[in-house]
Amino acid sequence: MQVTEEKACVVVVGAGMAGLTAANELRLAGARVLVLDKGRGVGGRMATRRIDCSTFDHGAQFITARDSRFGALVEQGRQAGAVEEWFRNSAGNADGFIRWRGTPAISALAKHLARGLDLHLETTVTGVHRDGRRWQVQTDSGSLFTADAVVVTAPVPQSLRMLDEGGIVVDSTIRARLEAIEYNRCLAVMAILDAPSRIPAPGFITPAEEPIASISDNQLKGISAEPAVTIHSTPAFSLEQWDADRQVSGRTLLDAASPWIGSGIRTFQVHGWRYSKPIRIDEERCVVACQSPPLIFAGDAFGGPSVEGAAISGWAAAEVILMNRRKITK
Ligand SMILES: Cc1cc2nc3c(=O)[nH]c(=O)nc-3n(C[C@H](O)[C@H](O)[C@H](O)COP(=O)(O)OP(=O)(O)OC[C@H]3O[C@@H](n4cnc5c(N)ncnc54)[C@H](O)[C@@H]3O)c2cc1C
Repeated sequence: MQVTEEKACVVVVGAGMAGLTAANELRLAGARVLVLDKGRGVGGRMATRRIDCSTFDHGAQFITARDSRFGALVEQGRQAGAVEEWFRNSAGNADGFIRWRGTPAISALAKHLARGLDLHLETTVTGVHRDGRRWQVQTDSGSLFTADAVVVTAPVPQSLRMLDEGGIVVDSTIRARLEAIEYNRCLAVMAILDAPSRIPAPGFITPAEEPIASISDNQLKGISAEPAVTIHSTPAFSLEQWDADRQVSGRTLLDAASPWIGSGIRTFQVHGWRYSKPIRIDEERCVVACQSPPLIFAGDAFGGPSVEGAAISGWAAAEVILMNRRKITK
């Protein structure tokens, strides 16, 4: 295995919404930032899958903006053609906030934010080690990234494992807080239908009974050329079925969804989200696990269980690092 080494001011682990907002903020402030992600593309849980000629958003379904700064970011995305209004109110969602869909799919806003960033995709971080006054981030390919500061934005249990691998000891109170963060699981069924579904426009329903949390019609949403639905299971069903045969669980969900989608299923796949949404949000928008050199935890577990919450947390993490830099250079 060839070991390579690269130096940066800041390494951001994760190219989901939190990692991308943190990295952009730091880059705009003049820092040399590297973003590492194990995925083939950016977006994390803002995820899209193609099966034959159908397109499915199978993680986040839409983006909402309640915070003005995030609203400005979504507006930038709209102007760049990365998001479009999907709907404002639907049964069970009558708060008046726009539900934005990505164009061509949910990851478009992430791709828009990733432009200009130094990204290393298909790069799994295995450990974060301390090297005097710097951090060393180790990957599965043997590469080492040395940085003055690190922001970890993977789901918290995964980020904690990176620290454990590097033997990083965190203050016990902070560690307990981080360990208390738990996530709901979610099974996502992506099914291609023989005919259009019976879901009314705009194509999103939340049946409010087990085992289905929501059904999205990707064709009505405007992202799939063919009739294609995404079914998300409830947290209780997902947990109960987690180790069961995915095809069997998927079939149970399709049967339960038949009043809305009929029974003409051409094919389907199931994806399991072990870390779907955090159950409880930490009291801070990001957590400083080490002050100097800075090592920050960010993500939706801190800003809120949504794309917007992740962005807010990413910005908070960048702000902590920039304040630290100002203190050092004063
Ligand atoms: C089924 C489902 C439905 C949802 N619906 C909505 C919705 O409709 N609206 C909404 O606003 N939110 C929704 N959410 C929540 C929303 O998707 C998340 O809150 C948000 O995307 C989280 O962003 P993040 O940056 O914190 O984390 P993530 O998006 O998870 O990003 C973390 C990144 O870290 C990377 N990573 C992990 N481990 C490593 C490693 N070892 N090395 C390198 N990289 C690593 C991952 O590949 C990932 O890209 C939904 C989520 C799910 C799963």
